Amino acid sequence: MTIKIQRRSLLKGGLAGTVLSILQRPKSTQAHNIKKYPDSYGVLVDLNRCIGCRSCEAACNKEQGLPEPNTPFTDQSIFTPDEHGQKRRTDATAYTVVQRYDFPGQDHPLFKKVQCNHCLEPACLTSCFVNAYTKTPEGAVIYNPDVCVGCRTCMIACPFYIPTFKYSSGFHPRIMKCIFCYDTRLKYGKPPACVEACPQEALLFGKRDDLIKKARRRIENKPDLYQDHIYGEFEAGGTSWLYLSPVPFAEIGFNPDISDEPVLDSVKNFLAIVPMVLTIWPALFAGFHLLATRKDLQAQTTDDTSGEDKR
Ligand code: SF4
Ligand code: SF4
Ligand code: SF4
Repeated sequence: MTIKIQRRSLLKGGLAGTVLSILQRPKSTQAHNIKKYPDSYGVLVDLNRCIGCRSCEAACNKEQGLPEPNTPFTDQSIFTPDEHGQKRRTDATAYTVVQRYDFPGQDHPLFKKVQCNHCLEPACLTSCFVNAYTKTPEGAVIYNPDVCVGCRTCMIACPFYIPTFKYSSGFHPRIMKCIFCYDTRLKYGKPPACVEACPQEALLFGKRDDLIKKARRRIENKPDLYQDHIYGEFEAGGTSWLYLSPVPFAEIGFNPDISDEPVLDSVKNFLAIVPMVLTIWPALFAGFHLLATRKDLQAQTTDDTSGEDKR
């Protein structure tokens, strides 16, 4: 039995009623049991092959019906970090972005495609108290906006900072992230649009287990070209998207502190240590959502301009 809370019922029943109904459920119904899918798909991203052409970004926006960016996909100035030295990140208008890393003394920069890594035991899923996320047998982590209450816990939980929030309407909260092209491609066994668009074969689609074997072969055959590390094989309990790199991953923005333990376990341990968190968690974030909703409504009353997407 899983917790299913319709957004409408939350708003209708009020915060107190909803929180009460959550707390009245047996504790076992609040747990997330994540199945293992040994036959699931993945993508191997080989950073030695990426040339930063951004064809993957263009294909993603088209496939997912995301808006055209202000500057064309051919514009390389987008790789310049902002005034705070920050590189571009995924947001509500871009489920995938390519970042550039320059190394002094190197002729060529290194490019890195970023998107949801589709964790095997996703922290976004385990942190969500209305079960808006699903890990499909094919490997995708998908999201159901119909039950989402907009608490944004998943944004905090994700170790890769991937889910973003669309501020288009207070009553229609929506998390935006890569869904592995699940509805249109993955569930039919077809490669994602970004993979198909890559002219360099920097993105290899296949069964995750096969991709790990292929990645190991590439490392063994060209040890001078590759780090002896497949990022995502174990990190955060393993991810469906995997990376090969010529330089240590810590030098190109991968978090070296992400442990091999699924974030699910950390959350469970944390909740075991502090049982009170289990009690206040839903109330806290449902409260945040209602506050955010009220602010959105006030903004809409005073300013009749249509909503924009921003992180
Ligand atoms: S990378 Fe983040 S958003 Fe994607 S499945 Fe993992 S925890 Fe969820
Ligand atoms: S898998 Fe699909 S949704 Fe995800 S980045 Fe690639 S094209 Fe976009
Ligand atoms: S399409 Fe391929 S080569 Fe071009 S930026 Fe994306 S991953 Fe790199």
